[in-house]
Amino acid sequence: MNQALALDTLMLDDALGDEVMRVTRGAAAACYQCGVCTAVCPWGLVRETGISTRRLMRQAQLGMDGAADGLWLCTTCAACEASCPRGVPIADVIVGLRDVAWRRRSVPDGFNALLWGMYADGNPWGRPPSRRSVWAAGLDVPTFAAGQAVLYYVGCTSSYDPRMQRIARALVGIFRAAGVDFGILGDAEPCCGEGAHALGQRPYAREIVAANEKRFAAAGVSTIVATSPHCADMFKHRYFQDEANDRWRPLHYTEYLAELIAEGRLRFVRTVETRVTYHDPCYLGRRNGIYDAPRQILAAIPGVEIVEMAESRADALCCGGGGGRMWQETPAGERFGDLRIEQARTVGADTLATACPHCVACLEDAAKIGDRPGLRVVDIAELVAEALGVQTRSNLTGARP
Ligand code: SF4
Ligand code: SF4
Repeated sequence: MNQALALDTLMLDDALGDEVMRVTRGAAAACYQCGVCTAVCPWGLVRETGISTRRLMRQAQLGMDGAADGLWLCTTCAACEASCPRGVPIADVIVGLRDVAWRRRSVPDGFNALLWGMYADGNPWGRPPSRRSVWAAGLDVPTFAAGQAVLYYVGCTSSYDPRMQRIARALVGIFRAAGVDFGILGDAEPCCGEGAHALGQRPYAREIVAANEKRFAAAGVSTIVATSPHCADMFKHRYFQDEANDRWRPLHYTEYLAELIAEGRLRFVRTVETRVTYHDPCYLGRRNGIYDAPRQILAAIPGVEIVEMAESRADALCCGGGGGRMWQETPAGERFGDLRIEQARTVGADTLATACPHCVACLEDAAKIGDRPGLRVVDIAELVAEALGVQTRSNLTGARP
């Protein structure tokens, strides 16, 4: 639909306007409608009509009603924020508009069931809580106890997805190789709430955060190391924001492994001869400025040659899996991962490494399509484990959920 026409058909509603301003905290006010955000949004690369981000910001400024397809397409990748001349926190505004849509009971089919499933099961994958720690079967991983140096927070995806469980097993092997005093919460590990937050169900996400804060404080957690940048982002920016907790030290695992390497606590015993290009996960790079730690880890692995894609660091192309997109279908031909795989092939990489379960899922799916084998997709933790001689595949029956 023509954008101008679409804007004309939006309805002004004072009550909604007040609600939008309150929920988005007026964050869109600085927008002067230049349209740069619309121009850089990756949806424009895969759809004839991408997201009119500029229009969404106008909607937030004026408190307009009207269905906006782009509201639920947004991956919250923050590529637009990196280019916005006015410094508008665009992804936050979009999540705020989703929050308003929930309050108005105007969300796509299936989201209610997804959130109820999260409430019932404690994870967005509809898996039973009693199977949460099956990935660790046979590894004899200790349960976290107060006084331990690190709580390893596995996260929902790496707990339940058979492919991503390899990342969790890799990290356990790495921590052991470095002599880290760590534990996990096992079946009692709670969801961090990122899925609910990204989909705009912020009141529910706040409930999850409040409950988890109490649990983490009671358990004596200080350094918490997360597999996923999405969980790490929640821990860094949504937990213990209103109360002082000097002990709270949330890290993504790449930050922690870079520290271990700098301290000389990881001794690699194998060479991994491979030409690697690194995909910056949006929630690690643009959203948290963590660009160097993953590259420092890769550079420390014997045999690894690093080549950069044209779009890297702050310019990295999103994999397409953030902002709740992991739980929505994206038609073939509209998946950012297909483009990213081509970029990796263009620089002659034989390994595409990343540091996020969502990125691994999207990129690995894209790499499998077509008849061009030869590019493997891995998480950096798996490469580190390989160089340390750590086993990551489970050969235990019952290890799959
Ligand atoms: S780039 Fe920033 S100022 Fe320009 S339209 Fe988008 S939000 Fe507004
Ligand atoms: S956050 Fe990413 S997907 Fe969402 S509007 Fe901005 S550039 Fe587009």
